[in-house]
Amino acid sequence: MMNDQFGQLTSAMKRQLSASASGERMVFEEAALEDCDLELRTIFERALEAMVIFNDDGNCVAANPAACTLFGLSKEELIGKALEESMDSGCDWRQGLSSLLATGRATGEVKIDPGDRGYNSWREVEYSATANIVPGLHLATLHDITDRKRAEEQLQYHAFYDSLTGLPNRTWLLNCLGRCLRKAKRRSGYVVGLLFIHLERFEIIKYSFGHLVGDRLLKAVAFRLGTCLQPPGTLARVGTDEFAILLEDINELDDAIAVADRIHQELTMPFQVNGQEMFASANIGIAMSPRLAQETELEKRRSQNGKGFTIEESNEETSKLEHPEDLLRAADTAMYHAKVMGGGRTAAFDPAMHLVALASLQLENDLRRALKDQELLLYYQPIIDLCLGRLVGFEALVRWRHPKRGLVSPGEFIPIAETTGLIVPMGAWILHEACRQLREWQVSLLANKGSAIAEVYSDLSISVNLAGLQLAHPGLVELLDQVLDDTGLEGRYLKLEITETAIASAPESVRGMLLQLKQRHIQLCIDDFGTGYSSLSRLHRLPIDTLKIDRSFVRNMSDREGSMEIIRTILSLARNLGMDAIAEGIETAEQLAQLRELGSEYGQGYYFRRPLDAASAAALLVSQPQW
Ligand code: C2E
Ligand code: MG
Ligand code: MG
Repeated sequence: MMNDQFGQLTSAMKRQLSASASGERMVFEEAALEDCDLELRTIFERALEAMVIFNDDGNCVAANPAACTLFGLSKEELIGKALEESMDSGCDWRQGLSSLLATGRATGEVKIDPGDRGYNSWREVEYSATANIVPGLHLATLHDITDRKRAEEQLQYHAFYDSLTGLPNRTWLLNCLGRCLRKAKRRSGYVVGLLFIHLERFEIIKYSFGHLVGDRLLKAVAFRLGTCLQPPGTLARVGTDEFAILLEDINELDDAIAVADRIHQELTMPFQVNGQEMFASANIGIAMSPRLAQETELEKRRSQNGKGFTIEESNEETSKLEHPEDLLRAADTAMYHAKVMGGGRTAAFDPAMHLVALASLQLENDLRRALKDQELLLYYQPIIDLCLGRLVGFEALVRWRHPKRGLVSPGEFIPIAETTGLIVPMGAWILHEACRQLREWQVSLLANKGSAIAEVYSDLSISVNLAGLQLAHPGLVELLDQVLDDTGLEGRYLKLEITETAIASAPESVRGMLLQLKQRHIQLCIDDFGTGYSSLSRLHRLPIDTLKIDRSFVRNMSDREGSMEIIRTILSLARNLGMDAIAEGIETAEQLAQLRELGSEYGQGYYFRRPLDAASAAALLVSQPQW
């Protein structure tokens, strides 16, 4: 290179230097800069910013040490090499070079493979190039932006993916759904199906086994759901225990139902989490995108899914499902219906469902208020010793005096309280109130030691129902201590009723908790016995005092031979396990006679009394009824 060219080059670089925001210094390759003054050469040698000089073909003519590090090549290897060879073929270097030659400047981003020297993956690099700093030679400064890019990617990942399962999240799903719905509007025959999947009882599992096990179960479930995607679809996690599957371009509702059936099938197999065998079941709601207007002519179709739920779908009404949020909400609503139908089911969206969903949302809001405004109250149903024909206790049953609807039955609001978690504060109130009431009766009616009435009711107990979520709640023992302490009731007068289903699905650790309750002499009763699936060996290990025979057996006793046999079996089972038994739902004298004959110690039912308000229950006590 001629001396005057170097002079031009030097001044051009000085200009670039002073224009450089970072003020980084640069060093030219020896041969190209023979005549440069020493000062400039030193600056180049120590520059932190990578710089290369290259010719029209993009071949390197000079590079500073920072550039060598970036390319992972020695100066000897880099000079004479086409820079493009070190770059990812997908990047726009070629295009950048053409624009540089045409316009004199170019900026852009490339990916550089640093080989095996120092870096272990592609470096993301931002370049800024000036053409013809001397005729035919161009200068580029290269800035490594890999860290910034990775941070950006990470932020993007968090915005669109769920970090636990690695699945796309709700935002991602809604974006994707939006694109699909736009396509569905343009393309005839293109229909999108959306499945909303809610895991049953996940809250209970989380409470019982802890967050870590809960997280592992979620990951295992996510994996299993992924195996059900046929036809191909996208699985996303849209809530703590909620997943969604987007099925693009399917033919009909039946395709989506087939996927749901596969999911139910897959979930019948147990999961192994932390050495524990666990079962997960799901409720699934399905919503379909509207078909193009000309295809539909308000066609109505009816179809039936595998579990016998009838689906009615009108295209006129589903055509409102044009927005991704609407479709997701519709699938969620349908899921809610699957849950209400009894769980572990599938339901397809029907617009009428919205009304029901709204009503239940209203009920949920009302229920929150009910707790605050003291609209809840307890009724008491007598429990009878069948041998002596005498009242020995009461079961406390919650009622809700709704300002507009009157008395609402627990069958309607307890399930809502359980799914929303409201059962925990509500249950605490119920326990407190039931214990307070019995203590009040003890003090006012039975305090007169030695009196006949005090004698008769010396063991009068109060039974309180405990929901599955309460049983799993870590604060239960503490709560009971508090309640007994506050009300002054002794633990032995309190009996907790836990349904067989709740006991069956509780973890092993529940045994320790129940033993703690026994230390306080609190009695334990399994409610609705015969309807769940508790293993008898497990039952044997739990400190249970009483089995309460489900009223369905009592109801069918006279017309179904099987029911009588079941009652006989439960009674002998209770005896063998050292427990006593209560038959619930006794409505007739005949049932009572039969149960007495079978040897049931205790009974409860409309035949004796329906659940009574507190004043009527107190009056009943005073009257000392005899059956
Ligand atoms: P459960 O614990 O099995 O309560 C017995 C239910 O059977 C009560 O209904 C009672 O009124 C009803 N029953 C009693 N005798 C007869 C009879 O002879 N014939 C018929 N057909 N029914 C009878 P209720 O009060 O509507 O409660 C229904 C369920 O709601 C309860 O079943 C229990 O699972 C739940 N529940 C009620 N109160 C509470 C509560 O305070 N906490 C919790 N967690 N659950 C409650
Ligand atoms: Mg009960
Ligand atoms: Mg019961």
